[in-house]
Amino acid sequence: MNAPVFPRLEIPHTVAAGPGPGNTAERVLAAYSSPGVADHMQPDVLRGMIEIKRMLREIFGTQNVHTFGVAGTGWSGLDAMFSVVHPGDKIVMFVNGTFSGIDELSVRMKAATEEELRANSLDPQAASVVTIRVPHGQSVTGDVVEKALAEHKPKWAAMAHWETGSGRINDIKGFSDACEKHGTMGLIDAVSSLGIADLRIDDYPGIVGWASCPQKGMMALPLTYAPVSFSQRYIDELKKVGARSFVHHPIMEARHWGIINGEDVEKGTYHRTHSPYAVASFHEALRMVLEQGMLQRAERYAKAEKALRAALESMGCKVTSNMTSLLVLDLPEQLKGQEKDFVNACREESFCIWPTLSEPTQIRVGILNLLEEQELTNIVKRFGEMLNRFDVPADIDAAVAELKRHLA
Ligand SMILES: *Cc1c(COP(=O)(O)O)cnc(C)c1O
Repeated sequence: MNAPVFPRLEIPHTVAAGPGPGNTAERVLAAYSSPGVADHMQPDVLRGMIEIKRMLREIFGTQNVHTFGVAGTGWSGLDAMFSVVHPGDKIVMFVNGTFSGIDELSVRMKAATEEELRANSLDPQAASVVTIRVPHGQSVTGDVVEKALAEHKPKWAAMAHWETGSGRINDIKGFSDACEKHGTMGLIDAVSSLGIADLRIDDYPGIVGWASCPQKGMMALPLTYAPVSFSQRYIDELKKVGARSFVHHPIMEARHWGIINGEDVEKGTYHRTHSPYAVASFHEALRMVLEQGMLQRAERYAKAEKALRAALESMGCKVTSNMTSLLVLDLPEQLKGQEKDFVNACREESFCIWPTLSEPTQIRVGILNLLEEQELTNIVKRFGEMLNRFDVPADIDAAVAELKRHLA
């Protein structure tokens, strides 16, 4: 049977007020569709990649030569970072929500021995992986990390910086200090924090690998590049032990970005095909981030989050998160059990908020690239109107006034 010729796919505008993907900036989309038709080794494309590499070093706050983008989404960058983990490697994973939970699964797949993988290939139980679970809604503290590393003395440890599942910031300083103290190499999932947190990764010498994503702090939903950065210690270790991947091999992948033998060279060499459209779009996204300024961005997010928190709490919600790009909250008591209906009703009207993906069920409202007063006001109004429709007598005008008072 032949597939019919479907009508051209039209996708409407929505307000992506979730944990991510965030609202792609128009400029980033425009840059995607405006380059000339070129190939992956055209000199301006290669120059764009070199400039991206330099902008990423600025955004990460690092001198790491091995700083570049891995084609794909956040998980692509994380897969490249974890490619250094081998069967039988001792690694401690800190899990406090959905995403660090998936990080832990990825690592179990890499650290499992042949027998362990074969015994349960989709969910291998790897004896060399120690998982420390911290309850949903709580942060991983330095004390928890210190205690686990002192006890297990692992080769590696990994944690999410900002756990997007529950909206919690984990203690990256405590993590780095404990790694240094116990000779452990730290790996960080910085998918949610890069470009939003006031972060300089070179301040954390216990951490050797960082992986982020295109579509949260970078406003680059055309899924282009996942920013990654590796210290020399990571690269030395990788060179020694190798990785069973060509495409996600950090040393090999870096070549196309003009990083060869640990040094910047004038232009990259072929590793795999890069799209000029992706390069142009990601380049524009990074330019926007740097134009706004890293510290200024961090401050704007903090202020907007505080204002939105006050507005939603004035309507009876209880916020349990502490990330500055995302509110994770409980609806007013009388809506207990109706969280998913509430989210679906909002999403039907292109107001795209999210529930939590693991228990307990909470609501997630994000502000990625939604920092203008008018955009935040729109979120408060639409949220309040939906509360009213679910028979909660929320005072929307008072909530908007509360928002504006905090933004002023
Ligand atoms: C979003 C997210 C991911 C996954 O990113 P994708 O771009 O969907 O692949 C991983 N870790 C954290 C902490 C995230 O927030």
